[in-house]
Amino acid sequence: MIVMKFGGTSLGDGEAIKRAADIVCHTLEDKGEVVVVVSAMSGVTDVLLSAATSAARGNGETFRRARWALSDRHRLAMTEAISDEEARLQLMEEVEALLSGFESLCRSVHILGELTARGSDAVASLGERLTVRILAAALREKGVTATAVEATEVIVTNGQHGSAAPLMDETRETARARLLPLLAEGVTPVVTGFIAAAKDGVTTTLGRGGSDHTAAILGACLDSDEVWIWTDVDGVMTADPMVVPEARTLPEISYAEAAELSYFGAKVIHPKTILPAVERGIPLRIVNTFNPSHPGTLIVAEVKLSELTVKGITSIKGLSLVTVEGRGMLGVPGIAARVFTAVAQGGISVLMISQSSSEQNICFVIRQEAVEDALRALEAAFELELARRNVDRIWAQDKVVIVAAVGAGMKGTPGIAAKVFGALGKHGVNVISIAQGSSEYNISFVVDEGDMEDAVRYIHQEFGLGLCPEPASS
Ligand code: ADP
Ligand code: ASP
Ligand code: MG
Repeated sequence: MIVMKFGGTSLGDGEAIKRAADIVCHTLEDKGEVVVVVSAMSGVTDVLLSAATSAARGNGETFRRARWALSDRHRLAMTEAISDEEARLQLMEEVEALLSGFESLCRSVHILGELTARGSDAVASLGERLTVRILAAALREKGVTATAVEATEVIVTNGQHGSAAPLMDETRETARARLLPLLAEGVTPVVTGFIAAAKDGVTTTLGRGGSDHTAAILGACLDSDEVWIWTDVDGVMTADPMVVPEARTLPEISYAEAAELSYFGAKVIHPKTILPAVERGIPLRIVNTFNPSHPGTLIVAEVKLSELTVKGITSIKGLSLVTVEGRGMLGVPGIAARVFTAVAQGGISVLMISQSSSEQNICFVIRQEAVEDALRALEAAFELELARRNVDRIWAQDKVVIVAAVGAGMKGTPGIAAKVFGALGKHGVNVISIAQGSSEYNISFVVDEGDMEDAVRYIHQEFGLGLCPEPASS
């Protein structure tokens, strides 16, 4: 059995939906059983969420316009992908009913002037609820007995709106109870990615980009042979091809490397996708809907020995570097604990930490949108020290990025850091802060947002990543 997920671009219009349906048909012929997971059409989740946010701020127009724009886009896709008129008309009714639900939700948000986390998840879930129906209909048109399934009936979460975590034991039970009988009857389930439900049935989402995670959760719960992620590039590459056009596909990487690459910004795979796959040893394959004959990237526990020490260069934008500094911090125990407790209590996650050996400052990187909250939390926690001048300053530098060089071959290989920073020095790129994970699978550092592309390209070039592709795996 294969669980395969199609991303937003892979379902971006009627043609893409037909292509996805063809891929499912071929895999069914080849492998026998397929469970399909779908994202919303590209950009739809953004439109839904920004309409609801602007409704909460008092804008009564944006959500109405968004409803009609979404209606037009999905209608056009249905016209292209579904030729049977009766099937299409019935589908259009279902789509309009969902979009009318979206408008009602936004109207309530507008009246209340508030968008709760629960409301936000209800709105965000609509994109996948639309595509799941369209792809199932496109498959039926090709003679596949396919049915749309809402993941609220399949994945049970801890109820944390916006970034819910699956409860794997419960999910294993519900997923098997809901999906295995369908497969046994020869039905292909087409399941909404990204969404799930808490124990009480309320809709939750798994976090932005979370459809990859859905596919891995289902793969693990159904003991599938493999999980395939269909996207718009030829697999996991040595860098984002949008930044480095000569980036190459990595034919095979380990779970650990995939985890580091995705954590440090390789958006092609959501970081949470790896864990369910690792736990059950299920291989993940990243493949291109627009180039399906390309083997893409295989992600497994153990990979063949590689000549590449550094395999990929990644970056994360939209960050701030927060610094707590003061001569009075020298040798005082517990400062770091208090810094990170204050930040954690504000629900803010820290992406990278570094402390200079003189102990006179601690700096860490967070998402820019959390910076006001972080500064407020730290100022409250260190009120006394600030007054006594033991802590001189708590401040943030906005518009920074983390760049990371990742690869398992870096472990124990001397000279990697020298090569990374040598390349940056040679080209005059200023490094603001540095960290190396103890796994030695990555070296990450902070640069100004304006230097991001140069930093990625120079390091990519320095390690010859665009020049020496590894032989394709079979
Ligand atoms: P989907 O909608 O299919 O989930 P995403 O947009 O989430 O697709 O992820 C695919 C994109 O990830 C690519 O178009 C590419 O620009 C970006 N990307 C970033 N880093 C990498 C990388 N190292 N390898 C491949 N793609 C990457
Ligand atoms: N549609 C969701 C998002 O845009 C989930 C996904 O595409 O994976 O975040
Ligand atoms: Mg994605």
